[in-house]
Amino acid sequence: MTVAPERLATINPDVVNPAVSLSCRYCGATYALSPTHVCIECFAPLEIAYDESALRRVTRASIEAGPTNLWRYVGLLPAGHDPARRVSLGAGWTPLRPAARLAAELGMRTLWVKDDSANPTHSFKDRVVSVALSAAREHGYTTVACASTGNLAQSVAAHAASAGLRSVVLIPHDLEDGKTVSTAVYGGTLVAIDGNYDDVNRLCSELSGEYEWAFVNVNVRPFYAEGSKTLGYEVAEQLGWRLPEQVVVPIASGSLLTKIDKAFGELGRLGLVEPTPYRVFGAQAQGCNPVAAAFARGVDTVAPMKPSTIAKSLSIGNPADGPYALDVARRTGGAITDVTDPEIVEGIRLLARTEGVFGETAGGVTVACLRRLLREGLLDPDAETVIFNTGDGLKTLDPLVSTGKPTATIRPSLAAFETAGLGD
Ligand SMILES: *Cc1c(COP(=O)(O)O)cnc(C)c1O
Ligand SMILES: [Zn+2]
Repeated sequence: MTVAPERLATINPDVVNPAVSLSCRYCGATYALSPTHVCIECFAPLEIAYDESALRRVTRASIEAGPTNLWRYVGLLPAGHDPARRVSLGAGWTPLRPAARLAAELGMRTLWVKDDSANPTHSFKDRVVSVALSAAREHGYTTVACASTGNLAQSVAAHAASAGLRSVVLIPHDLEDGKTVSTAVYGGTLVAIDGNYDDVNRLCSELSGEYEWAFVNVNVRPFYAEGSKTLGYEVAEQLGWRLPEQVVVPIASGSLLTKIDKAFGELGRLGLVEPTPYRVFGAQAQGCNPVAAAFARGVDTVAPMKPSTIAKSLSIGNPADGPYALDVARRTGGAITDVTDPEIVEGIRLLARTEGVFGETAGGVTVACLRRLLREGLLDPDAETVIFNTGDGLKTLDPLVSTGKPTATIRPSLAAFETAGLGD
């Protein structure tokens, strides 16, 4: 269908769903736009396909007139076009903080921290969940379910509660207390599994064959994944509608990294920013580094591993989007690297000490990987760089407890204060 140019201005891009179908990421087979995620021809994952002319109706002005949350980009998303059926706690439009003190410490020129700990349940997962649950509701589901390393659990339980949907959340039994308590409080069904995340995920896939529920990371995953694009859109808009030269992104399944690349690509293609080159870097913990290991070996396949690291929110040993993340890093001239648990703790403390931002372990992974990439000469210290803090440090206090002691413990007297050497 073609639309006469004089009609374009009268079509509100926010009420038109630009998503038209699902397409196979491997063979290109197309499917109806519905909650399904694997190609029946080749078993590869499916991705949302858009009507390019519908995307092209979105302008900077139409975005800027939208709400100050991720739904300002609804014209570029596959769900949520009817605000009455949208599932939203107001995620998105989180601060892009200038990080001059951290930059100085690392010998960099221009550095920004995109701080997604400011989301309603304090992690970037609120973006993907808001889009996934909106899609679930639009497709008639009343129960939503997920397998989670923690942050997804809290976000699904919270968004489901806010929308009156039933939630069934599966987590590994050894999750941090902070994440278990802050999921249980929303009152959904919370099931701890005696196994690691990959075991939890496998069970979740089996359940999805049995129950007519919206499984956030199974049948509605194509919708879920698109929510991550909003993190890329926001960075570009907050920089004054331009792309940064380098980004450093934490990797769990690898989806976020690939969607930031997709978002930058779309903005350039749609003429919303100048399509300037950018390099995408990935960050993992050494205790769960399947994608970084494949990058280092120069291979295309990601060998699964058993995770063992304090960065539990990134502990996916068999990452679904690993090969795509490798492709993005190689295609853009970036790299994927990893850091040890002590380096992660040091990264958390460095970000907090220089910028006043307390990130969770995933943020520590990102800061520590930034440092390693600089040390190895892989990342240009003079090019404008954005790093992503994807969660709040209050969620992962455990690994910091031994380093988070008071400077001194004294009796309540002036003399004791001075004796302890705490004055000027
Ligand atoms: C889920 C998550 C990520 C990255 O997730 P992907 O699966 O790679 O999209 C990054 N940081 C935090 C804190 C997360 O919870
Ligand atoms: Zn296929």
